[in-house]
Amino acid sequence: MKTKIVATIGPACSDYSTLAKMATEGMDVCRLNFSHGTHEDHQKTIDIVEQINKLQNNHIAILADLQGPKIRLGALENDFVALEAGDQIRLVTYEVVGNNSRISIRYDAFASDVKTGDLVLIDDGKIALRVIETNGIDEVLLKAETPAKIEARKGVNLPDTSISLPSLTEKDLKDLDFLLQQDIQWIALSFVRSAKDIHLLREKIEAGRVANKPGIIAKIEKPQALSNIEAIVDASDGIMIARGDLGVEIPMEQVPMIQKRIIQLCQKKGKPVIVATQMMEAMISSIRPTRAEVSDVANSVLDGADALMLSGETSVGKYPVDTIRIMQQIINQIEDYEAIYYRHEKPNDASHPRFISDSVLFAASNMAQSTNASAIIVSTHTGYSATRLASHRPKAKLFAFSGNKFVLRQMNLLWGIYGFFDSSLDQADKLMNHLNDLLIEAGQLQKGDRVIHVLSTPAWSKGNSNTLRLGEL
Ligand code: PGA
Ligand code: MN
Repeated sequence: MKTKIVATIGPACSDYSTLAKMATEGMDVCRLNFSHGTHEDHQKTIDIVEQINKLQNNHIAILADLQGPKIRLGALENDFVALEAGDQIRLVTYEVVGNNSRISIRYDAFASDVKTGDLVLIDDGKIALRVIETNGIDEVLLKAETPAKIEARKGVNLPDTSISLPSLTEKDLKDLDFLLQQDIQWIALSFVRSAKDIHLLREKIEAGRVANKPGIIAKIEKPQALSNIEAIVDASDGIMIARGDLGVEIPMEQVPMIQKRIIQLCQKKGKPVIVATQMMEAMISSIRPTRAEVSDVANSVLDGADALMLSGETSVGKYPVDTIRIMQQIINQIEDYEAIYYRHEKPNDASHPRFISDSVLFAASNMAQSTNASAIIVSTHTGYSATRLASHRPKAKLFAFSGNKFVLRQMNLLWGIYGFFDSSLDQADKLMNHLNDLLIEAGQLQKGDRVIHVLSTPAWSKGNSNTLRLGEL
């Protein structure tokens, strides 16, 4: 029950009863994919999740995923355009109804950004074309590398091209306007290329909201993002390894090791990391995943991901609830394996503004390991203490108390963190006893359990985590 589950919401699961069942089976975060659906559709989901949280006393978070500079083809005269290997075709940046000689591409600077020899991949990389020549204005001549069947409006990836599109498109800005009116815990940005993309989104969020600001998740799916990965992790509040587009933009055989490296980097820097795409793909139409998918889920847990994401499996699949249940079963099985725990990351150095908190949280996790404690109980204002604690991957249960429901929902994405609402303002000793009582009442702890409290004293002040107490209930 440490690794969290993110489920993409779509027509297959957006009704109250299905979402409520998914929550009961283990869904921790709902992903709204802004590449699909209207604001009205997303508003409905946001409202239903709020209702479920109230009724189930749950803290399910909302993650809104902005489409970013995704490139698509335009419409076609017929259902598809068929090409033989070696056939030539033009992609043009003006509007035409496409046919065997030319198809529109929705990317104004395409002809000036590409160079001869660049690869143009269509439909998840299934179709490969290569640039023969460009007029630099609005037409590019390409040659098919293999036989191809191009359908209307398919996505395009340009792994060799430095794309001049802005990181936030007109559509993203409109979506962001809508989102900043809502209680959204996380916003993901697609096709991030550098830390600047994150800074720009951060400015918009800062300008659009005074409180309860969503955290930013950078989706890693471009080769440029891999070159700038350290700066992107530093600038973001979390990372998504978006294996779908990443495996098209770079050779797919590189993705597994990149997944492991990014997870390690995120743990080191204390940032949550989501592994995404095709985890249980077969369950879009089948009641069971393939054994290879079971292994992929298991290996992602072993790698140390904070959360695993489902896309089509829940949004358009036949078995959204079963998918969550089976994914949770795999997670539970793998979490019996001891080696996934206590991956202590050194605290930040003394010059870091959170040095005191970091040192106390590092010590809390070490102490939990050496004393075999059942739980670490922490009070958190911004979620920082919970985030840092999770990055040490303690086996002890991790309970985070906060008087801010938004923070509790945000923390629902984090590895192992279970949030509890409590707004009592009291002296440290009374407070600790009170939190123990709450956890005993909730069935999470029992008399005799050894627990570690991490406090910021004075209690509930916006200070550092500065006190560690080891006790028995
Ligand atoms: P997408 O992102 O589903 O928005 O494309 C995930 C991925 O590319 O893996
Ligand atoms: Mn993607």
